[in-house]
Amino acid sequence: MPETIRSDGRADGHAEPLALMEQSVPDLRAALLRWWEQHGRQGIPWTLRPDGSRPDAGESLCPLGIWVAEVMLQQTQLQVVLPYWQRWMAALPTRDALAAADEHDVLLLWQGLGYYSRARRLQQGARMLLDAAPPGADPWPRTLEGWLALPGIGRSTAGSILSSAFDLPFAILDGNVKRVLARLIACPRPPARELRGLWQLSELLLDPGRPRAFNQALMDLGATICTPRNPRCGACPWQGHCAAYAAGDPARFPVKDAPRELPFQVIGVGVVRNAAGLVLIDQRLNEGLLGGLWEFPGGKQEPGEAIAATIARELREELAIEVEVGEELIVLDHAYSHKKLRFVVHLCTWLSGDPQPLASQQVRWVRPEQLGDFPFPAANGRIIAALHQWLDADASADSSHAEGSRPAA
Ligand code: SF4
Repeated sequence: MPETIRSDGRADGHAEPLALMEQSVPDLRAALLRWWEQHGRQGIPWTLRPDGSRPDAGESLCPLGIWVAEVMLQQTQLQVVLPYWQRWMAALPTRDALAAADEHDVLLLWQGLGYYSRARRLQQGARMLLDAAPPGADPWPRTLEGWLALPGIGRSTAGSILSSAFDLPFAILDGNVKRVLARLIACPRPPARELRGLWQLSELLLDPGRPRAFNQALMDLGATICTPRNPRCGACPWQGHCAAYAAGDPARFPVKDAPRELPFQVIGVGVVRNAAGLVLIDQRLNEGLLGGLWEFPGGKQEPGEAIAATIARELREELAIEVEVGEELIVLDHAYSHKKLRFVVHLCTWLSGDPQPLASQQVRWVRPEQLGDFPFPAANGRIIAALHQWLDADASADSSHAEGSRPAA
C-alpha cells in the first residue's frame, strides 16, 4: 500500500523519503497518458490548432485563448465556460483587440461569470504585454516570471499557459489537481496547508517529454474521474498507486478544516421609477468584487431598522434623493465565498432630488428595456426579470381596466 507524504517530501508517519513515490513515477506517467489518449477531453477548443486538429509535441499554440480560458476556469466548469469563451474570442480574437476594447464591452462579455475584476485584469494584462513588446518581437512571455508579472495570474495559471501553449515543462496545481494529488498520497492535512509538498509532487510527476499532454491529462482526470464527491476509482489509471483508494474511502480526501459560519447581511434595494417610467441605476466604484458593474441602489440594513427605512436612508445617503418606498418586488439570497447576502428589493417612486453619484461612479435614468445593455452582477439579473414581470402585469391590469370601463356597444 502506498505511503502518505508530508510537505517536506517524507512519507507521513514512516519517515520514508519521497523516493518511494519516485519509483512509481514512470508507471504513473505512462498510465495517465495512456488513459488520456483514450478517454481524455480531446476536443477543448483552446488546446487545438485553429483548424481543430491536435498540435504536435513541441508545437506552439497562440496563448491568448488559453489565457482567457484559464482565467474563466478559475471560477467555473468547462461546460459553463465554453459558450462564454467562444463569444469572447469571436469579439476579441487578438491581444491588441482585447487591449483596445471598451471596458464596458469587456464586462458585458464576462457578464454571468462573476468575479468581474478578473475580466478587467485580463484587459490590463493585454495592455501591459502590448506596452512591453517592441514592434516585431514575440508578444508572449515564455517564462514563469513573464506571466506572473501580469495581474491576476498565479503560479498554476502561468504553468498551465506555458505548458499548454508552448509545451514547456511547468507544473500546475489548480483545484482539481490538488484534489487528485492529495488523494494519491492520502494527504493528512488540507491542501491549502500542504502546498509545498503538493507542488513538489506535481513537479515530480510532470512528464518532461510531454508536459502539455501530461498537465491536460491530470486536469481531465480531476474533472471526469477523480471528482469531488464520487470518484470513479474503478476507471482510474492511478488506482493501483492511490493511497486514498487503498485506505478504502477516497472521498474522505482531501481532508478539510472545520467549516466556518459565513457572516449574513440583509441588503435593502430600491428599484426607483420616475413619472416618465424611467428606472434609476448606478455604476459601482472600480474597487472590490463587483467593481465597475451597474446595480440598483441600496445598502445594508442597520440593526432594528425596518427595510423600507433602510432603502429610504440608503438612497438619501448615496444618491441624495427622496423616494416613497412601495411594494416588495423580490427577495433574493446570494452566497459569496466569504458572506451570505439577502437582497430585499422594493419598488420606489422618486419624489425629489437630482440623483448624485455620492458613493458610485455615475447614476443614470434608463428605460426598463435598456437594462440589458448594462453589465449587472448575477443577482441583479433576477431583479431585472422580476421588474419586467411586474411591468407586464401592471400593463395588462391597466388594459383590462380600460376595457372594463368602456361603455357597452
Ligand atoms: S483511485 Fe480514485 S481517489 Fe485515487 S486518484 Fe483515482 S479516482 Fe482519485
